[in-house]
Amino acid sequence: MNKEKYMETSDKNILHVYNRFPVVFHHGEGMHLYDTDGKEYLDFASGIGVMAVGYNDKEYKDELSDQLGLLLHTSNLYYHPPMAEASEKAVKLSGMDKVFFTNSGAEAIEGAIKTAKKYAYVTKGNTTQEIIAMESSFHGRTVGSLSVTGNDHYREPFYPLMGGVKFATYNDLDSVKSLVNENTCAVIMETVQGEGGIYPADPSFIKGIRKICDDNDILLILDEIQCGMGRTGYPFAYQSYGIKPDILTSAKALGGGVPVGAFFVTEKVAENSLKPGDHGTTYGGNPFVCRAVAAMCDILTKRDLPGHVKENEKYFTDVLDRIIDRFEPAVARRGMGYMQGLVVTCPVKDVVSKALENGLVILSAGTDVVRFLPPLIAGKEDFDEMEKKLTAVFEQLS
Ligand SMILES: *Cc1c(COP(=O)(O)O)cnc(C)c1O
Repeated sequence: MNKEKYMETSDKNILHVYNRFPVVFHHGEGMHLYDTDGKEYLDFASGIGVMAVGYNDKEYKDELSDQLGLLLHTSNLYYHPPMAEASEKAVKLSGMDKVFFTNSGAEAIEGAIKTAKKYAYVTKGNTTQEIIAMESSFHGRTVGSLSVTGNDHYREPFYPLMGGVKFATYNDLDSVKSLVNENTCAVIMETVQGEGGIYPADPSFIKGIRKICDDNDILLILDEIQCGMGRTGYPFAYQSYGIKPDILTSAKALGGGVPVGAFFVTEKVAENSLKPGDHGTTYGGNPFVCRAVAAMCDILTKRDLPGHVKENEKYFTDVLDRIIDRFEPAVARRGMGYMQGLVVTCPVKDVVSKALENGLVILSAGTDVVRFLPPLIAGKEDFDEMEKKLTAVFEQLS
């Protein structure tokens, strides 16, 4: 098949829920992707924050290749070595006490919601639990995760969703306070909002929420599916704020490319929530994905990728700031570490499409933000290459 044929065959068979860019990726190496015509692309999207160690990393590949020949799957009825390795390493990295592995981010959110509900049921006998979520948040596409996602466009066609969810304004503590009542069982938020437009939590906001939760025995669920696993220059973004969640969700970079998510809880939550029979999954945390999680935790720690991100953050943001200085449609920048958003006044889709033509893979977030989520291995020469390409993009657009 050639490029056109791949696209045509896929479109004929796959349910049309994505308007895909006209590119057929074939393989990757380090920071670069290659399409079926052999064209090279610099990847500043990481498959939406997944490919944290880039493409075809030898150490990662060797671990997975080895596991392929040993054992792919056993179900959760039995133990296997990667379960022990992955859980020990992920729990340590997360700073939490216990983990449950899922197949995706949305399922991690589902588990977090069930855990919070069960906690209120056990500790307060509460069966009318309410959850406070944030406007312009994103937590996934399943019915439960959509119920706490603050985006009408994603939600409306699927009403009625799960009840008992109220929406506060992100970074507005009073709006959260006004929604708290005796039925509130959890506050759920992204430590750095991703899809909504790259908004880091204000320190006073997240600390204020922690206090509200402590004062009222409400659980704080931090969704770090996008911003966790080293992306902000910390293993998990919450660690930069000096607070700790009761429940933490992860996915995307957690498995470095294999489908795996997780929710982590503190000992207090573990003791008072899900028990045998309350929750389960066939695939979740199988030997193959656990081997990937263990490898990712090892690589992140050994190569100190959070430290590498911190060290290079300014070099990265300087590139974006120069773009803002030079080109009128680029007006502002927000972000933390290797999770950056460039606010533009021109259609963001045009920037992303034009970048692809110029061999640069980037993303959008919200309606007016160009989103950059490079692999965490990105170094100065990659930012130099990105600047050249992005400059060409804005020159061609103006
Ligand atoms: C991507 C994402 C999700 C959903 O993860 P899936 O694996 O797509 O289900 C949830 N929360 C945040 C913050 C995300 O970025």
